[in-house]
Amino acid sequence: MIAVVGGGVAGLAAAYRLQQRGHEVTVFEASDTVGGLAATYETRGDRIEAYYHHLSKSEETIVELAEELGVGDRVEWRLGENAYYVDGVVHPLDTPWEIAAYPHLSVYDKFRLGMLTLEIDVRGGVPSFDTYENLEDFEDVPIKEFLLEHTTQGVYDYFFEPLLDAKFGSRKEDVSAAWLLGRIKFRGERDILRGEILGYFEGGFGVLLDALVDAVGEEHVVTGARVQDIEFDTSVETLTVEHADETDEYAVDDVVVTTMPHLLERWTGYECDIDFQGSVCAVVGMDEPLTDTYWLNIADDAPFGALIEHTNFVPAERYGGEHLLYCASYVQSTDEELWQLDDDGVEELWLEGIEEMFPEFSREQVNWVQVARNPRTAPVYERGYLDMVVPYDLGNEVAEGLYYAGMASKAQYPERSLNGAVVAGYEAADRVVDGR
Ligand SMILES: Cc1cc2nc3c(=O)[nH]c(=O)nc-3n(C[C@H](O)[C@H](O)[C@H](O)COP(=O)(O)OP(=O)(O)OC[C@H]3O[C@@H](n4cnc5c(N)ncnc54)[C@H](O)[C@@H]3O)c2cc1C
Repeated sequence: MIAVVGGGVAGLAAAYRLQQRGHEVTVFEASDTVGGLAATYETRGDRIEAYYHHLSKSEETIVELAEELGVGDRVEWRLGENAYYVDGVVHPLDTPWEIAAYPHLSVYDKFRLGMLTLEIDVRGGVPSFDTYENLEDFEDVPIKEFLLEHTTQGVYDYFFEPLLDAKFGSRKEDVSAAWLLGRIKFRGERDILRGEILGYFEGGFGVLLDALVDAVGEEHVVTGARVQDIEFDTSVETLTVEHADETDEYAVDDVVVTTMPHLLERWTGYECDIDFQGSVCAVVGMDEPLTDTYWLNIADDAPFGALIEHTNFVPAERYGGEHLLYCASYVQSTDEELWQLDDDGVEELWLEGIEEMFPEFSREQVNWVQVARNPRTAPVYERGYLDMVVPYDLGNEVAEGLYYAGMASKAQYPERSLNGAVVAGYEAADRVVDGR
């Protein structure tokens, strides 16, 4: 039997690929539902992801998968507007004239920022078009040092630092310049006059999850099945799985692990040095919109890292007319105050934060708040990251028949994504097939 550990997008994609190649496979998922970080809540209308999600235009594998599964027509490309909140004012930053009007960057700052995002190195006054080509050259360069050299102090203070604070918190200075350059390349398409075009599924990413489960076959996806151990000698032998009221052992020929790497280490001893950060993320269901923008970066002190108003991206009509707002924050350690709060505490802190930022906001507009949290949701892309990724095939490192497709895979660099999860699942599945 080929066992896939984890029924998130990577696990389901791996299982789908293996079945397509004619192999029988069983997915073991610890939770009661599939989807992992892409799992959804019910609303008055379509389902909504517990953590905000969209696609970038450059992400093709997941779109091809959707087409293969017959749900390609559900992929929609929409404008995802961005803005910055500074000193009590929301500054839209999508169109050239909005960027020109942003008062916190000088004309020269904007020029240097623009050149970097076009990947043109203008240091020394002579433009160079290939400086940023090879990401590996920047793998050991600290991001702050890089930005101060390749843009300006103003660009760092008023553009990148708030983003880095929101994304990496106290770990921001550990991140490599290669990550940033990778992100610039990875970002998809901009409509020059309107802003960034992002992808979403009509009906939410749950549509893709359902289609994957259908394709793999519900009988091959076992939920409420927590893998406890993998026994192996020179090759994998058995998988110990805890179900609600019993623990079973399954003889296995191959195992594809798609969990975070600390579990891989617990089961096999394979060590991965990547640090992960956790997320706390609330969806707030409201009668009224809060802002006009999808993605609000916050360059002020606020108890959350960003506000993402989903229904300024996907129409509120899809959710029974309710407006849905994500409040989100990464946590670097479970000792952090935010992590220590219970869900009511998070709700109180964040609604207070919104009230402070938007005096016209009233809690009476809020119908419900749902808080999700997970201690490991995103890698810290620190310097030397690529040396730490877990190989897809662990035959040499641990035992034959052991494969990995979780978030510590190379496909999840320079940014972890649903597309990266599909690619990782495919990469591992292809190696299983090659190894047979
Ligand atoms: C806040 C946030 C925002 C994001 N935004 C975006 C975005 O805009 N666009 C985008 O493309 N991506 C986004 N992502 C990333 C995306 O969600 C992930 O890259 C993707 O879902 C990872 O899928 P995965 O299958 O690798 O991992 P997971 O989804 O973590 O799946 C792993 C699965 O393994 C299961 N599991 C764990 N332990 C066991 C066990 N012992 N036995 C059995 N099963 C187990 C888990 O329950 C889980 O279902 C975001 C993530 C977060 C947290």
